[in-house]
Amino acid sequence: MKVLGIESSCDETGVAVYDTALPGAAGLRAHAVYSQIALHAEYGGVVPELASRDHVRKLLPLIRQTLAEADLTTRDLDGVAYTAGPGLVGALLVGAGVARSLAWALDLPAVGVHHMEGHLLAPLMEDDPPQAPFVALLVSGGHSQLVAVDAIGRYRLLGDTLDDAAGEAFDKSAKLMGLPYPGGPQLAALAQTGTPGRFKFPRPMTDRPGLDFSFSGLKTQVLLAWRDSDQSDSTRADIARSFEDAVVDTLAIKCERALDATGSKVLVVAGGVGANTRLREKLRAMAAKRGGRVCFPRPELCTDNGAMIAFAGALRLEAGERAGPSVFVTPRWDMATLPAVETGVTH
Ligand code: ATP
Ligand code: MG
Ligand code: FE
Repeated sequence: MKVLGIESSCDETGVAVYDTALPGAAGLRAHAVYSQIALHAEYGGVVPELASRDHVRKLLPLIRQTLAEADLTTRDLDGVAYTAGPGLVGALLVGAGVARSLAWALDLPAVGVHHMEGHLLAPLMEDDPPQAPFVALLVSGGHSQLVAVDAIGRYRLLGDTLDDAAGEAFDKSAKLMGLPYPGGPQLAALAQTGTPGRFKFPRPMTDRPGLDFSFSGLKTQVLLAWRDSDQSDSTRADIARSFEDAVVDTLAIKCERALDATGSKVLVVAGGVGANTRLREKLRAMAAKRGGRVCFPRPELCTDNGAMIAFAGALRLEAGERAGPSVFVTPRWDMATLPAVETGVTH
């Protein structure tokens, strides 16, 4: 089944074609992402109305480009998947409107995909994919969650952030030290050149039981360390390194706890922070020590993209799930309420 995937929940327009007839990574026939970062940079954050308008401008050209790269036409498609939530309502409506219209015009089935399920399933697009049950760590710009995946579509929330998401903490800490928006990846790059251990930051909430996170205190630690420092480039890099080590250690400690709690040997990591090199190294070492396995998407599929929506949508379409003809989106949406995929619930 060849499925066109459309992502437009925030500030990335993503389009892809995933073909379930081809195994693993080969199934991704083509994918393209257009990032609106430059558009929002001068405001220091995403402006929802500008985001919607830019999705309107970019979506159809990106669909044409992706189909051409896959050497396919709309007639070759078997279904259309789009992000139905959570996200910015206007941005979501653009993707949903285009997806539903295409599906209607081409007489194809369509399905609305949960953005975080897209992230969560992205590692399964790679070769030698893990089989459920497993534990998933979702670390993105808006989420820091540990999820027990009993089966595809059956998710239990084990832990959540009480305040900032991990990616948000990266972005805000970067901003505090004068890095341009969105600073997370730049802070991570800077950390590579920093000296570890110069600043002592806590590992929040690791001294008590439970799987919840809290990252806003770390951001304050960064603010105080930066304010009281010489504010040189090398100090910025050293703070970045100590901050990154604190986030990575905290995530690794909680992942290990979640594996213990569920008796699982497999950890799946997804979302933008999953692209972080040090996090990948740390979790690989942890999994190896336990005789288990950790699976990541390739770094470019950690952040928002259409491939994960095409893939998650293909699994749901193959199970018989269909969106009704009306265009509607769900800006706030709990992943635990999703139907299990094996049952092929139609709604
Ligand atoms: P959500 O998926 O929760 O709605 P989002 O879609 O904005 O949020 P993603 O696109 O998955 O989030 O990820 C973006 C986040 O990932 C940003 O906060 C960014 O700073 C962070 N990020 C990206 N690359 C890295 C990296 N190498 N190290 C740390 N953080 C990173
Ligand atoms: Mg984004
Ligand atoms: Fe995302």
